[in-house]
Amino acid sequence: MAEQTELRRQLIASAQALSAAGLNKGTAGNLSVRCVEDGVDGYLITPTGMDYATLEPEDIVFLALADRDGQAPKGRRKPSSEWRFHRDVYAARSEAGAIVHTHSPFAVTLSCLRRDIPPFHYMIARFGGDTVRCSAYATFGTQALSDAALAALVDRSACLLANHGMLLFGSKLERAVALAIELEALCEQYWRACQLGAPVLLDADEMAVVLDKFSTYGQQ
Ligand code: 13P
Ligand code: ZN
Repeated sequence: MAEQTELRRQLIASAQALSAAGLNKGTAGNLSVRCVEDGVDGYLITPTGMDYATLEPEDIVFLALADRDGQAPKGRRKPSSEWRFHRDVYAARSEAGAIVHTHSPFAVTLSCLRRDIPPFHYMIARFGGDTVRCSAYATFGTQALSDAALAALVDRSACLLANHGMLLFGSKLERAVALAIELEALCEQYWRACQLGAPVLLDADEMAVVLDKFSTYGQQ
């Protein structure tokens, strides 16, 4: 149980780090981390509609992966309205250890164009392919949004959600937060380049080279 409290604290610290980095404001966005509680596979997720600055470990909600209705035990906080896409990403992608969703300014801006982010910079490969896709539009908190997000995440660890924001996963919490900051930076750089004209894109051969290099990049 001490371990669970520590993981809840880490989730709150990650949520607050996203706010400090300017990626989420107010109650926008949500985060989760995969875990096992009392032998049940599930995830800890931020509560719906609460300012990250006020969160205490007991405000974080555990949901089982098998849970189909997002009902937290009585007396606990209600989970994020987006628990469906958190559950569905964990179920579909075994490599996902933590999930971050933001309404960060540049990701939202690009998501309103409903266009994939093309390979204008090699760092696009960081997210698994030669684009970061934009999902189809669906209302927040619906199964339709989860379905659209999962389709946009095929062979990728990140996507834009149309007219909404970004969604991504990492192997663990710190990695997911770092990737969210990287993706927001890329969205800003793409937006800046577009102010001056049509960015020259890297071709498929070059992106294949970069994707290969990323498989051994860093400290592994
Ligand atoms: P929650 O407060 O329910 O997590 O909602 C925020 C959000 O970003 C919905 O898409
Ligand atoms: Zn949202």
